Amino acid sequence: MNFQPVKGTHDLFGEEMIGMQYVIDVLSATAELYAYKRISTPVLEYTEVFSRGTGGSSDIVRKEMYTFNDKGDRSVTMRPEFTAGVVRSVVSNKMYAEGGDLPLKLYYHGPAFRYERPQLGRYRQFHQFGVEEIGIDSPRADAECIIMAMQSLYMLGFKNLRLKINSIGDEESRNNYRNALKEYFSGKLDEMCEDCHERINLNPLRILDCKVPHDQEIAKGAPKIKDYLSEASESRFYETLSIINDLGIEYELDDSLVRGLDYYSEVVFEIHALSDAGVDYGALCGGGHYGGLVKQLGGPDLAGVGYAMGVERVYNVAKDDGLLSELDTGIDLYVIPVGEEVLDDVFNITEEIRSLGFSVDNPLVSGKLGSAFKKAERRGAKFALILGEDELERGVGQLKNLKTKEQKEIDLNDLENELDEAMKPFDEQEHHHHEEKE
Ligand code: ATP
Ligand code: MG
Repeated sequence: MNFQPVKGTHDLFGEEMIGMQYVIDVLSATAELYAYKRISTPVLEYTEVFSRGTGGSSDIVRKEMYTFNDKGDRSVTMRPEFTAGVVRSVVSNKMYAEGGDLPLKLYYHGPAFRYERPQLGRYRQFHQFGVEEIGIDSPRADAECIIMAMQSLYMLGFKNLRLKINSIGDEESRNNYRNALKEYFSGKLDEMCEDCHERINLNPLRILDCKVPHDQEIAKGAPKIKDYLSEASESRFYETLSIINDLGIEYELDDSLVRGLDYYSEVVFEIHALSDAGVDYGALCGGGHYGGLVKQLGGPDLAGVGYAMGVERVYNVAKDDGLLSELDTGIDLYVIPVGEEVLDDVFNITEEIRSLGFSVDNPLVSGKLGSAFKKAERRGAKFALILGEDELERGVGQLKNLKTKEQKEIDLNDLENELDEAMKPFDEQEHHHHEEKE
């Protein structure tokens, strides 16, 4: 029997795991700068959370969900996205009731599940990082959210980002627009895909999201949302745009951008980036304003705004662009025992070094010096600390910088200062790289 991971899922380890973690760390740190706090909700939700929250007309809910009945015969779904679950949590915990601490500013990351056709940048289990700001209805909040999304990608070192923005208006705008789309597409349905036959009745806006090339061609001639925006939606949209513009962030207006989830209203956006090598992994980020979602899930009538990023996609573009090449993946120190007799002492000294806050390992058995050095290298150690009987008797160790090959005797009774001193050039280097990136 040869077990493989489930189709569309992937194991994360080594370089990719370190890179993904770094991406999540930078995105989280940026969210913290904007005063967001982390929330973690269950992977499993009752199916209605998504069918009502994410919306019955979305492709996600219609075709892509991992839904099953549990042993108690309750229909549950592995989250295909976070927003509906986060809003469910806000309502279940009545977070809005906490002495008027609105807006809530929450960020999250973790795995999401969609039964899609696996391909480049598209998995069945993937990871999202995202934010939700709930309890504020303002073009300024919408703008801040979009700016934060851009800012967090700049923090990772991205340069050539394409920010696409559209407004899909308020309820009234969308109703008028849906009627116009219905009229336009109804004469052309014969040429269009099966899904679009359903979309025209469920929500004709979804047709604009269709990925079939011929359908996209037809959609190009469709009426434009901008001609159907109510006055209020139009002026709100321009206010958001002018705030973004004033900060010097470039954007493109894209009137075919409608987003795949039902809960959006007013401003919606996506961020794209081709890797330097020209590879397109798909949108890095999607988001927008939502009106009725909190109420839809049983809470008060609070608006919100948020976005979600695909962590694998962000990681892949960042890696291709060389933004992750300086990531420190190794350990500080590898202790090399010389001879069987020193193993106990080496064990204890290793623990002492750990308690000082340095990452360190040793082979636990004695062996050839050469193979111990190889191991140190494979662990990415900055230093090797060689300890033989003679050294231990004198209370010293041989500290070898594995990059410069310089070797120096250090005092084992003053390990903290000795190691701090030795690590200094590396610390400075790390700070330097960091500044360059930002
Ligand atoms: P797409 O148009 O690429 O299908 P989407 O509109 O379905 O994206 P969202 O629901 O907005 O995506 O999710 C936010 C982000 O999550 C996307 O911009 C993308 O980076 C990522 N993402 C979505 N689906 C997948 C997937 N199947 N595999 C990997 N990442 C994904
Ligand atoms: Mg999708």
